[in-house]
Amino acid sequence: MVAMLGRHARTWLVGVILACSAGQVWAEATIKDVTTFLDQAEAVRMTDSARYAAMLTQLHADNPPMTPVQRWRLRYLDAAQAQFLGHYAEAEKGLRDVIDHSGHPGLSARAMGMLLQNLSTNHRYEEMFTLAKRGVAALPGLKDTVARHSLLSNLSQATNFAGHPEIAIQYAQMIRTDLLPGESPCISMAVEMAARYTQKTLASDSQELARGIEACTAYGSPVMANMMWLTKSTRLIEEGDPEAGLALLDRIAPSVEREGYFAGRAALYSQRGNAYLAVGRYDDARKAAQAAVDLFKPGDLDNFLIDAYHVLYEVAKREKKDAVALIYYQKFADQERGNLDDLSARALAYAAVEQRALLQGLEADKLTQQNSVLKLEKDLTARAVENGRLYIALLLALLGSVTFWLYRIKRSQLRFMHLSHHDGLTGVLNHQHFMTELERSLHDLERRNAPACLVLLDLDHFKQVNDTYGHAIGDVVLKRATATCCQQLRRADLFGRLGGEEFGILLHECHPEQGLVIANCIRAAIEATPVTIDGHVVKYSASIGVACTMISGYGLQSLRREADAALYRAKGAGRNRVMTDLLGDGLVGA
Ligand code: GH3
Ligand code: MG
Ligand code: MG
Repeated sequence: MVAMLGRHARTWLVGVILACSAGQVWAEATIKDVTTFLDQAEAVRMTDSARYAAMLTQLHADNPPMTPVQRWRLRYLDAAQAQFLGHYAEAEKGLRDVIDHSGHPGLSARAMGMLLQNLSTNHRYEEMFTLAKRGVAALPGLKDTVARHSLLSNLSQATNFAGHPEIAIQYAQMIRTDLLPGESPCISMAVEMAARYTQKTLASDSQELARGIEACTAYGSPVMANMMWLTKSTRLIEEGDPEAGLALLDRIAPSVEREGYFAGRAALYSQRGNAYLAVGRYDDARKAAQAAVDLFKPGDLDNFLIDAYHVLYEVAKREKKDAVALIYYQKFADQERGNLDDLSARALAYAAVEQRALLQGLEADKLTQQNSVLKLEKDLTARAVENGRLYIALLLALLGSVTFWLYRIKRSQLRFMHLSHHDGLTGVLNHQHFMTELERSLHDLERRNAPACLVLLDLDHFKQVNDTYGHAIGDVVLKRATATCCQQLRRADLFGRLGGEEFGILLHECHPEQGLVIANCIRAAIEATPVTIDGHVVKYSASIGVACTMISGYGLQSLRREADAALYRAKGAGRNRVMTDLLGDGLVGA
């Protein structure tokens, strides 16, 4: 029965579906068009296995030119044939090839459906449910309606098989939601009724069951209709109306026998056994149950066998055949335990696959989280870089202002130092600093034993300049005289204002003769550079005294004294002249 297919380990409803939808059988002798030939072969696959095998053989022998799609279809049909012959490993190889490499969603979905049956038959439930998961993932992209419905019906059966009829019902209903106009709801109703039976929510007088039977009858599928009739009879017996169940079984028996579908016959015989047992017709019950047992091979494990052996055991017990009863009880117990084991194996496999999918989901979540963390880290790094840039900019700004501040301080210090070392009017060294530098230089010169001359210069009759032209013009004359002197000096020479109109000069690396010449040049330049102000020409001159280290030594005091003495002599000798510590060796201006 359809309902029993849900708990039947060896039978898969989609096989029936394909058989039912096979329709017309062609008899092509030659291959004119490969696609048509493939269609014809597929059409006879479940109804005429001999013809199907012959057609495949012919196709391989003729080996006509084929497109890639045609080759993949042939690969699928070869795999179907291998599965039909029970060559499950070979079938699996071909089906997996089609699923993974054909690139044809419709063909791949059909191969998935067939592989689900293959794996189920071989009790490889974990792989079956893993494949079912893949099938579910493939559903949204599956445009081929026939392939989609085939896959959905297989998925419905796989989940019902795993003990999840509620999901099986959803898959079944998904087929109905996208039925093409004129397309029959038979398949979806059949798989849904199987799930509803597992769910124990199907009554014998259920409207849906009646509609399903009606739909499959109208669809021209007596096999499917019979499976649902068998479900109805099962429910009648279970509901305590074995007479009604028996009456129904008798009514459909000719059709079930005619169709010859294995699961239908097994259901018919075992249910008859149940019904006869319930109404006390033990002999009929034993015969019916034995007929059910005879359908199977020794060692088979099947739900129908549970019922059948149970009936045989009960009949033997009631007939007081204890030894026989014990044997049947043993067989009944073996079947029940085996089926329970299989059921728990299926449930466990389903749970394992679900668990793995959940874990993969968690892994994906973890990856997403890791990605978020990475993104966050990246953002933070970017922000850190940005902040780093800001800090650097701030530091630079700070450094800039500190530098500027230090520069200003330094400049003030330098200015202050300059002011403290230089004369405010003329800009040359002031007395104090000149003397300090003079002393330091003399030490240095002495250490190096280098010659130098100290020149003392005093403007002549400067008081008269002030008196004649005023103090301001006196200042101008002082500045002019200083500038004129500077022009005659080298960078290394020291030049300072000793006070009033008196100046001191240290000529570095200078012998007395050179000193005399330079001093005279200065004197001559001053004499030759009068100051002209407001039409007045202010003429002035200077008297110079020179003392050289080579004569007077490096002592500051002695050198100063000798230079002073020479200057005094120059003044005394009539001014505007140069006198040295070499007595009588002075130079006189014009
Ligand atoms: P002699 O030739 O003997 O040196 O005569 P002198 O007039 O130059 O000598 P004296 O020492 O008598 O006069 C120096 C004058 O220099 C007195 C002072 O008024 C003037 N003097 C000193 N310092 C300054 C100054 O800074 N500016 C001006 N304009 N005059 C000054
Ligand atoms: Mg003077
Ligand atoms: Mg003077």
